[in-house]
Amino acid sequence: MFDLSGKSALVTAAGQGIGFASAVALARAGARVFATDINEAAFAALKQADARIEPFRLDVLSDADVSAARERTGAVDILFNCAGIVHAGAILDCPPEDLAFALQLNVTAAYRTIRAYLPGMLEKGGGSIINMASVASSVKAVPNRFAYSASKAAVIGLTKSVATDYVGRGIRCNAICPGTVQSPSLDERLRAQGDYEAAKAAFIARQPIGRIGKPEEIAALVVYLASDEAAYTTGQAHVIDGGWTM
Ligand code: NAD
Repeated sequence: MFDLSGKSALVTAAGQGIGFASAVALARAGARVFATDINEAAFAALKQADARIEPFRLDVLSDADVSAARERTGAVDILFNCAGIVHAGAILDCPPEDLAFALQLNVTAAYRTIRAYLPGMLEKGGGSIINMASVASSVKAVPNRFAYSASKAAVIGLTKSVATDYVGRGIRCNAICPGTVQSPSLDERLRAQGDYEAAKAAFIARQPIGRIGKPEEIAALVVYLASDEAAYTTGQAHVIDGGWTM
């Protein structure tokens, strides 16, 4: 398996779902992991999952929090921007404040952490930045995901821009585009539709592989992209979706 010994990683939104699974997988691959979230209740479970995980509170919407995080961790080798939110609805269901919030959390937060951490990676001579996008983006049209798709498409653009500007200086920047993945917020979205079982069955029905993805399956891609074995990939939107877009 991939060996991340000697590397350090910062993960945002590591409190649950894909971020949690990724923090654990990065640590098990040998990295020193700074696992951050606004939900401090998750920290005990992170520490219990792997002693190499150092959790602390980081609100990715806050310049002050990101500066303090950078002070605390020093330069890192791996930055996984996992924070994001799903806004449900078409454009006519999306008032300006909802679009602004989706862009803040899904796009500007990654801009903020990259601006904080990229200079340290450049000083070290390299680093791997991984940004959480989605197949609901420029990859695939998904109904009732206006703000989500627009913002996740922007994540892919941001990723390609950073990748091309720093490819000659040891920096790789990739995006991950999952299909539907089991997580607490997915369960909330399914419950919000009224009939949880029916909503889940509909989500499964659109997956050619016949099931929803597991956070650990996305985490495995995060570990690969973080590793030196991925040295030849940058600027890509890596689709991992159970065949939804094949
Ligand atoms: P989730 O939505 O269940 O959990 C999100 C986490 O983000 C929570 O721990 C929450 O406390 C944290 N968070 C919220 N606001 C924050 C802030 N301001 N600063 C720091 N942390 C904050 O997890 P998930 O469903 O695994 O989603 C994680 C990422 O993966 C998101 O970017 C999401 O868009 C993306 N994604 C998820 C799916 C899916 O089906 N679950 C599919 C494609 C992409």
